[in-house]
This record gives sequence, C-alpha cells and structure tokens, in this order.
Amino acid sequence: MKLFNTLTRKKEEFNPIEPGKIKMYACGPTVYNYFHIGNARTFITFDAMRNYFEYRGYEVQFVQNFTDVDDKIIQQASKENLTPEEVSLKYIKAYFEDAESLGIRKADIHPRVTENIEEIIQFVKELIDKGYAYELEGDVYFDVSAYPNYGRLSKQSLEELKAGARIEINEKKRNPLDFALWKKTKPGEPYWISPWGNGRPGWHIECSAMARKYLGDTIDIHGGGGDLTFPHHENEVAQSEALTGKPFANYWIHVGYLNVDNKKMSKSLNNFFTPREINEKFDLEVARFFILSAHYRNPLNFSEESMESAQHGLERLYNARENWMYYLEKLPASSERDEEMMGQISGYEQRFIQVMDDDFNTADGISVIFEMVKTVNGFLGQKPGKEVLEKALEILMDQCDMLGLLQRKSSCETILESEIKELIKKREEARKEKNFVLADQIRDELKEKGIVLEDTPEGIKWKKI
Ligand code: AMP
Ligand code: ZN
Repeated sequence: MKLFNTLTRKKEEFNPIEPGKIKMYACGPTVYNYFHIGNARTFITFDAMRNYFEYRGYEVQFVQNFTDVDDKIIQQASKENLTPEEVSLKYIKAYFEDAESLGIRKADIHPRVTENIEEIIQFVKELIDKGYAYELEGDVYFDVSAYPNYGRLSKQSLEELKAGARIEINEKKRNPLDFALWKKTKPGEPYWISPWGNGRPGWHIECSAMARKYLGDTIDIHGGGGDLTFPHHENEVAQSEALTGKPFANYWIHVGYLNVDNKKMSKSLNNFFTPREINEKFDLEVARFFILSAHYRNPLNFSEESMESAQHGLERLYNARENWMYYLEKLPASSERDEEMMGQISGYEQRFIQVMDDDFNTADGISVIFEMVKTVNGFLGQKPGKEVLEKALEILMDQCDMLGLLQRKSSCETILESEIKELIKKREEARKEKNFVLADQIRDELKEKGIVLEDTPEGIKWKKI
C-alpha cells in the first residue's frame, strides 16, 4: 500500500511500526459550534481510511481528540449564556449525532483536553527541563531556536518563517515564531493550577501529549485538514520530537479543502453549510458519497449541483443492489458462461484494491464499482448462474459498506423486516391466549428465517443469526 507523506512530499510504501497494526491520530474538532461539511470532509476521510485499513486486514487503533478549551469556546459561552464547559459538552454531543448521520464511526478513543491537563503540564515541564521551553510571567513558550528541525514538515526554512511571522503587539516571547505551550489565565476564563501559576494549555500541546499518552512516542499516521500543516502540526512535531528524541509520526496525511466557489469553506468566511442544513435537502449519505468521489488530497468544490449529481450516482448504486436482489430469485443455478463472468467480477475486485492501495484513491475506487455495476447489469440479460450475481452482490455490498455507503435498507430487507414484525405480533397474541403450540410454531418459523427472539424488559427483541 502506498500513502502520500507530507513529510517527504512523496508517495511512499506504507509500513507500520508493528506489522499488521496501525496507530493513527487525527486532529478533531474545536467544540464551539456545529461542525460544517468542510470539517466533515476531514473526519470522513480518516473514518473511511480506517475502514479500508481494516478491510485490508490491519488492526487499527484510532484516536481523535476534542479541543474543549479554547478562546472560541469561551466567546461562544458568553454568546449562548452558558459556561465554557456547557458549550463544549453541548457540541461534543452534537458532534456524535452529526458524525453518526454521516456514517462516521466513533474513534477508539476521543480524548478531551480538559481530561488530560496533568499529562499536558508534565509534558511542558519536561520541555522546560530539557531547555526547549521557557517561562515568562506565567506563560510558557516553546523556544523554536532550540529545535534545529523546525520547518521540516511544512518545508520552510527558519529564515522564511521569520520573514513571514507577524509580531503581535504585547507579545513577550523571545522570538516571533515561539509558540505558547501554557497561557496565563485571564479574568473570567477557565484555568488550572500549574507550576507557572493558574492558566490553560496552548492549542498545539494537547495533540502531542494525548497522542503520546494513548498511542506512544512514535505513531504510524497523523492527520488533519491541510490547514493544520502549519503551524499546528509543525509545532506538534517540534514539541514531541524535542521531548522524546524519537520520530513523532512516520506518515503525515493532509486532506484537501472543501471549497465553496473555490474558497475554503470556513466559519470565518461565513460560506459554510452544516450537515444539519444539508440534511434538509439531501440524505447525508449523499454528502459522504460526494466527498469520497474525489481523491482526498484534491480540492473539492461544494455546490448544490455537485450534490445533486452525487445523489444520482448514489441512486444508481442503490438501484443496482435492488435490481440484483430481485434477479437473484429468478436465475438458474448455473450457466455456461459462469466461469468467464466470475473471472471478470474478480478482476473488478482486484482492481478496486489496486486503486485504493494507491494512496487511498476513493475516486478511482468508486469508478471501479460503477464499472462493475455496468458490466454485471449487462450480464443480467444473458441469464448468468445465481452464483455470479451472488458474488457481484457480495463485492458491491462489502466495498460500499467499507466506504460507509448503501447503508439504507433494501426494499427486500424492509419487507422481510415487516414480515418478521408481523409474526412476532401474532406470537404475542398467541401467548396472551395461552395458545403455546402456535406461539412455539411461530418461534420455529422465525428460527428457520434465521431470526432469534429475546425477551427483554423493554419487550421482545429480535436479531439475525
Ligand atoms: P477545527 O474544528 O477548525 O479545528 O477543524 C476540524 C478539522 O477540520 C481540522 O482537521 C481542519 O483541518 C479540518 N477542516 C477545516 N475546514 C476544512 C475544509 N474547508 N476542508 C477540509 N477540512 C477542513
Ligand atoms: Zn492536533
């Protein structure tokens, strides 16, 4: 498998530290508001990447943080008349709701800054002890001049960086590039007690401290949106590598922007759409399909037309699934051309893996799925054997499931579900009338359909076996 590594600006063969296992960290949201579909592009990309690694047999440990203390949260708190903590809890809850509606699974761990203050303080202390950081009147700064590799990730020399740096008014730090690890508290802000007085962590330090705590000194993959390369990720590398003397992340992955009229979708430009707004017009699976239809590193323009065309594309996949399920019942057990057709179908499966292995090219992966759909639709008129269509259906479902698509139930499944519910109701009635023979008969009938019943305090539950 190959991945484009921002560290080397090259596609590289992907070799995790421990064969078969992947430690992956992605920078998560600052929880001061609902996230927009631009943020979602980054979240969906890492979610689908994680799924693909698992599809390829890797065991993935995935961590995505919540930045739950920040200037923006404090400002939002006064706007909403809430405490900063109430704001962050409200939008963490909203994150999980919106993520779920976009088919984004929960990470293995979602650490929060406020739950990791001790580790952050310890990290900062060690940086000071090692001479990489200094305290100034209650603030602590990372000393960029003490770390010779600064600029390696964003490929900028210290000179270039210095020329571009803004010197902010009232900045006490020694060098304009030095960045805050710990900020002295201001009146009315949340704070924690530290060796440097009351204060709170700077932004960058949280990811270094949490990645280390949950995944170890060196991780396989670290990612985020392209805007995080500098300064956020550059600063993370500096802090972590200064502290441990080991590489922080072996592969850095950055997601291209989701744009509106070729400008980055962002809160500050007020050109953003939240999943909640989009959901008024489109099923959110369409948004996921739209995002995965582009290569993750390319810019992608969001518009109503592009969402409509994604909707048509996704419908074609749903139609194929529906059609194939319908045909399945009508096909002969086997036919003469089965072997040749099976060969073609397996070819698509391999091709899918080949393009996805090449830097997670979901754009080409989805094209391969469409090619397979077209070919298999062509087979239908030639009465293939049942096995052929079963195989095609299995591949379609596996690949789409991995991408988080075709999650809506098929009408066959919906019909089956309503039949099951009807039988459960009949069985309940039979039991009420003490007709246990009939109740048992129905239970057996359901069992034949692969359905087992469970009596729970909330009533009867059923599951497929
Ligand atoms: P934030 O909550 O601003 O820290 O952003 C959460 C994640 O979304 C980060 O990884 C950002 O890089 C990413 N992000 C923000 N805007 C966009 C965009 N327009 N397109 C893609 N990713 C974005
Ligand atoms: Zn981060």
